[in-house]
Amino acid sequence: MFDKILIANRGEIALRVIRACREMGIKSVAVHSTADSDAMHVRMADEAICIGPPPGTDSYLSMSSLIAACEVTGAQAIHPGYGFLSENANFVQIVEDHDITFIGPTAEHIRMMGDKITAKDTMKRLGVPCVPGSDGGVPDYETARAVADEIGYPVIIKATAGGGGRGMKLAKSADELEVAFRTARSEGKSVFGNDEVYIEKYLGTPRHIEIQVFGDGKGNAVHLGERDCSLQRRHQKVFEEAPGPCITPELRAKIGKVCADAVANINYIGAGTIEFLYENDEFYFIEMNTRLQVEHPVTEAIFGVDLVREQIRVAAGLPMSFAQDDLEVQGHSIEVRINAEKLPNFSPCPGKITAYHAPGGLGVRMDSALYTGYSIPPYYDSLIGKLIVYGRDRDEALARLSRALGELIVDGVDTTLPLFHALLQEKDVLTGDYDIHWLEKWLETNLG
Ligand code: ADP
Repeated sequence: MFDKILIANRGEIALRVIRACREMGIKSVAVHSTADSDAMHVRMADEAICIGPPPGTDSYLSMSSLIAACEVTGAQAIHPGYGFLSENANFVQIVEDHDITFIGPTAEHIRMMGDKITAKDTMKRLGVPCVPGSDGGVPDYETARAVADEIGYPVIIKATAGGGGRGMKLAKSADELEVAFRTARSEGKSVFGNDEVYIEKYLGTPRHIEIQVFGDGKGNAVHLGERDCSLQRRHQKVFEEAPGPCITPELRAKIGKVCADAVANINYIGAGTIEFLYENDEFYFIEMNTRLQVEHPVTEAIFGVDLVREQIRVAAGLPMSFAQDDLEVQGHSIEVRINAEKLPNFSPCPGKITAYHAPGGLGVRMDSALYTGYSIPPYYDSLIGKLIVYGRDRDEALARLSRALGELIVDGVDTTLPLFHALLQEKDVLTGDYDIHWLEKWLETNLG
């Protein structure tokens, strides 16, 4: 096992990893920009090292500074968290070239899944159901036209290198295809440096269901059920739950096995998430994330496992501490993502926290790096905390969420907390009856 791990991240996820390290008796090294000298992850880690000025590109994304920080502190492994360099295959390569262990999958797995066309081809080959669409890239408008005519409108044009909801364009009919095709291409080129695009059937009322998988890199893999993350704004998740309200144990076992077999087949190592759209009882693969997800705690809650500990174990060459038969869903968990943003436009709202009080009690987990007096810097993501609740069933989890939201105090900046208070008054949220478009429509009616 490692003696010391460097965490190439900040905020709540850095704390999450530090906590796992401490429980495992491993020393932790925090890295930080000059804007984060007073951040909680710096205070909580065993050691901290400044790696550059505030902009992410000069600090948390600076590969040379991170490698130097490992060498100076003697860290043997790097945990990337999510975001920043967590899905950067070149970084993984460089880390390994320096005889440091990357806690996550191999560069090859990241490359395979980072390019959406390769990912889809691979998944199709491994027997995972995909959204109907083009076979690979679509080189020109004429081909796009032929593919779209064949699969039928509406269609979505996606940049193969796209991510974070960018590089996707909807064409409701043939008239809109040319503009959608050219815009997706140019956005792919300008934002991601790659103008290759492909076409998929656009699904009208799907839910976003993702399957948590875990592999040991030696051909063994398990699934840890699903998360329903259908409540999204601009393709960004805001409310996640597990198990999914519409997924039966039989469905879970079936799609879970397909996913676990697929990742076992490619000798996948560590945590991964296979994302699907789910409509009319069918699953359609959209992408795989080769890292820990923001919403991993809801899975931890219902299976009683520590996914970060598990990531560290397999990275150190140890076997997984659970087999498929050990993993049984118990109860229900919900997470809400709290951002420092001002409604109704969700504009970032950095600033000083004048009072912070975290909720507590049975079944409540607050993952946050806030403290009273902390100043949220303007340079990074606006996520300031995740409130995760657990209950014996969905109704208990909802009641607990409402109770915990009532206890939480974040003063000094605007946050998205009022959104969750309002959502918990909605019948569709209370019954779990929503698809990926529900929240956008609700926001238009209620905040628009
Ligand atoms: P990104 O990598 O940018 O997050 P994804 O392929 O994961 O892109 O898709 C993000 C979101 O876009 C999905 O959760 C869903 O809301 C929507 N989406 C993607 N593909 C389709 C599709 N074929 N039909 C309808 N909605 C889609």
